[in-house]
Amino acid sequence: MILLLGGTAEARELAVLLQDAGVRFVSSLAGRVARPRLPVGAVQIGGFGGVSGLEAYLMEQRVDAVVDATHPFAEGMTRNAIAACSSLGIPLLRLERPGWTEPEGAGWTWVDDHDAAAAAAAQLGERPFLTVGRQSLGRFVEPLSDRPALVRVVDAPEVAVPASWTVLLSRGPYPAESERALFADHGVDVVVTKDSGGSYTWAKMEVAAETGAAVVIVRRSAAAVGVPVVNDAPAAAARVNDLAGN
Ligand code: NAP
Repeated sequence: MILLLGGTAEARELAVLLQDAGVRFVSSLAGRVARPRLPVGAVQIGGFGGVSGLEAYLMEQRVDAVVDATHPFAEGMTRNAIAACSSLGIPLLRLERPGWTEPEGAGWTWVDDHDAAAAAAAQLGERPFLTVGRQSLGRFVEPLSDRPALVRVVDAPEVAVPASWTVLLSRGPYPAESERALFADHGVDVVVTKDSGGSYTWAKMEVAAETGAAVVIVRRSAAAVGVPVVNDAPAAAARVNDLAGN
C-alpha cells in the first residue's frame, strides 16, 4: 500500500494515475481547509500525531512506500515523513513542483522567511497584497498594521487583522484578467508571496510586472539530502512500483 501525502494539485493528479494503474493507495490530507478538494480514491483526513503517530500508522497499515506530495511550504509534514520513513526503512519519494523562475529584470526581492517578507513589504510599498496563506498572516500584522493591505486566503484568518486590511476569501486558480482587476481596484503596489511554483497562482506575478508593483518572495528551504525528488505526477507514478518493490 502506498501512502500519498497530499493537499496539492499534483497529489490529486497522482491519485488519478495510481488509481488508473490499479495501485493500492490512500491519500492523506491535513484537514486545514474547511472544504478541501478531494482526490479520487481512499482519503484520510487529519494529522497522524507527529513522527511517532506516523510511524505507528505506517506499520499498522503495512505501508510499502510513501509519496510526499505536500505543498513546498508544508515543511513540518515533509520533515516528519523523512524521519518516520528513515527510522522504519520505508522508501520515500518527494513529488515537488519546481519553484518559479524570476523573469530577467523583474527585480523580485527574495527573502528567507515571513518576518523578512513583512519588513521588505513595509519598505517597498504602501498598498501590499498578501498571498502567503492564513497560517503566516500573524507575522504581517504588526509590521503592516497601518497599511491598507489586501489579504487573500482560502478560509478566514485565525488572527485578528487590522481594521485597515481587506480580507478576500477565495481559492485559485486565478486568471490574469481577474488579477488585473484586483490590482487596479486595490491599487496594489507590492505583492508578497511564497515560492509556491506552478501555474495556479502565477498570474499575479505577470500582473505585478505589468503594473510595476514590487514582488517580495519567500524562498523555499533546501531540499532534503538523500530523498529522491520528482517534479510532476507522471514521473512520480512511473517511480511508484519500483519504490514499493513490485
Ligand atoms: P505542515 O505545517 O507541514 O504540517 C503540520 C502538521 O499538519 C503535520 O505535522 C501533520 O500533523 C499535519 N499534516 C500536514 N500535511 C498533512 C497531510 N498531507 N496529511 C496528514 N497530515 C498532514 O503543513 P501545512 O503547511 O499546515 O499544510 C497543510 C496541508 O496543506 C498540507 O497537506 C499541504 O500540502 C497543504 N497546503 C499547504 C500550503 C502551504 O503553503 N503550507 C499551501 C497549499 C496546500 P501531524 O503531526 O499530526 O501528523
